[in-house]
Parts: sequence; C-alpha cells; structure tokens
Amino acid sequence: MPQADCLKTDCSQCAALCCLALAFDKGKDFAFSKNPCEPCRNLSGHLCAIHERLSDAGMAGCVAYDCLGAGNRTVQEVFAGQSWQDDPRLMRVMMEAFAAMREVHKRIDLLRAAEMFALAPQADQDRRAFLNRLEHHRWSGTELNEFEAELALEIDMFLYSIKDHFPVDIFSSLKMG
Ligand code: SF4
Repeated sequence: MPQADCLKTDCSQCAALCCLALAFDKGKDFAFSKNPCEPCRNLSGHLCAIHERLSDAGMAGCVAYDCLGAGNRTVQEVFAGQSWQDDPRLMRVMMEAFAAMREVHKRIDLLRAAEMFALAPQADQDRRAFLNRLEHHRWSGTELNEFEAELALEIDMFLYSIKDHFPVDIFSSLKMG
C-alpha cells in the first residue's frame, strides 16, 4: 500500500493542535482573539464545531491555515495517537513538538519545490538527501527539540545557496535563517 504523503493534512488523525497552539488577533480574519496554548472556544473534542460556517462566522483565517500535515504527523508519529485533552500534562510538549514539526514540513515543502529548478548535480543530490532525512525519519520529541538548532540550520544554509531560484523570499516563511 502506498504511504500517505507526509505533507497531506488529515485533521481526523490530529488532536486539534492548531486550534490549541496558535494565537490570533481579532480582525478581518478572526472574529475574536486567542492566546497560544488556549484551546479555542469553538473546539468540540478534536473537531471545530463551526467548521461548515467558518467564513460566515468571521474565521476566514482558519480556512486559510494549513499545517502541511505537521499536526497529524506529530500526534501519530511522536505521541502514538495520544491527546492533550486526555492528559493535560501533554499540552506543552505537544505544542512544542507541533511547532518544530511545522518547521520540518515547511522545509520539506521548499525542498520539494526546488525539484523544478535546474540545480547543479551536487546541489540536487544534497536536496534529495535532506528531503529523504526529513520525510522518512521517525521523529521523537527530543529530536524535534533539537531540529531548529541543528539540522534546520544546515538546510537553511543549503536553501540560502539556491535562494535565487525561488520567485519569492523563502526565508520570510521560516523562523530560522
Ligand atoms: S474556530 Fe474552529 S478551526 Fe478555528 S481555531 Fe477555533 S476550533 Fe479551530
């Protein structure tokens, strides 16, 4: 059976990590403000109680958001399907792991996009090697904690070396670099 694409978001396999972890401010995209690590008032279990009418409810920002599969991968791969809702002690570590996994998945997205560029053979080999490490590794919470201080820096240096191929400033979307 083919393996699911790791960048595919599957909310049914997540624990509403974005609706817990992310902060937003009241404005044109959100009808109210929410702090990080504050479960959204519209959560019903792991689902959004207003999912079918998010835009009408003034929550277009939720419609536009895509974790690129980081939420479902974090819950299933790192926490074996556990949820902060069943064990509130997991809230902080799940949030931290989710934040780091988002950084992993942003870089997978960029490394995949670079496949379309006419990279030098060595650069394309490096691109594939980084991609392979990010896509196929089974991450632990500890490894995710270390990601941004270690492997992410190596990848960002590589991305910097090929940045002129990208039509936009890719570093504005990355926390590092
Ligand atoms: S409104 Fe729904 S999708 Fe948006 S953060 Fe709250 S629960 Fe999540």
